[in-house]
Amino acid sequence: MAKMIFLKSAVLPQDYPTQSRPEIAVAGRSNAGKSSFINALATSKVAKVSQTPGKTALLNFFDFGQHYRFVDMPGYGWAARSIPEMEQWTAMIETYISSRENLVGLILLMDLRRDWSADEQMLKNFCDAVGRPMAVILTKMDKSKLKEQNERKKLISQKSQLPTFLTSAETKTGVKEVEEYIFEHWVKGWKLEKETP
Ligand code: GDP
Repeated sequence: MAKMIFLKSAVLPQDYPTQSRPEIAVAGRSNAGKSSFINALATSKVAKVSQTPGKTALLNFFDFGQHYRFVDMPGYGWAARSIPEMEQWTAMIETYISSRENLVGLILLMDLRRDWSADEQMLKNFCDAVGRPMAVILTKMDKSKLKEQNERKKLISQKSQLPTFLTSAETKTGVKEVEEYIFEHWVKGWKLEKETP
C-alpha cells in the first residue's frame, strides 16, 4: 500500500509525463473492477478520475509511492464502441504499449467469472510481440466459493499462459501479493537508461 497520486491524462506521446519512473499499465474491460482494484492498492481513496466524463478515453497516469506509476488504460469491450472509437482506442493503446520505454509490465484485470476471450488474447499477442510482460488479476473473488476460485484461476492461467492472481478489492485479499509481484519482477531491476522528455 502506498499513496496514489493522480499525475495527468494523455492521449498522445508528447503529452505523457517524463519517463523518470517505471510504469505499470492496467487494462481490463469495463466493469472488470479496475477502479476498485486501484483504490484497494492505495492508502487513501483515489479520485475517480478515470470515470469522470471526458477522461474515459484517456491514459491516466498515477504516481504510486516513490518508485513507480500506474497507468489506467480505458476499459475495452468492443461491442459497445463505434468503429472510429475502436480505431482511436486501439491506436492509443498500441502506441503507448509499443513505444513507452519505461513501461515495465501490464496487468490485465478480469472478473473471475468471465472467460478468457479473443479480446484478452489480442492484447496478450500484442504485448508478446513487443516484449512486454503481463500478469492476469482475477477480481471479485469474494463473490465465489473457494472451489470455484481455484478452478477459475487454474483455467485462466492455462488459457492465458500468464501468471494469474486471485484478488478482491472488497476484502483486499490478494492485493498485497500483486503489489509484491510487480515490485519484485518488474520494478526493482528497472534502471533509467536515458531521460527522454
Ligand atoms: P471498472 O469499470 O473496471 O473500473 O470497475 P469498477 O471498479 O467500477 O467495478 C465494477 C463493479 O464491480 C462495481 O459495482 C464494484 O463495486 C464491483 N466490484 C469491483 N471489485 C469488486 C470486488 O472485489 N468484490 C465485489 N464484491 N465487487 C467488486
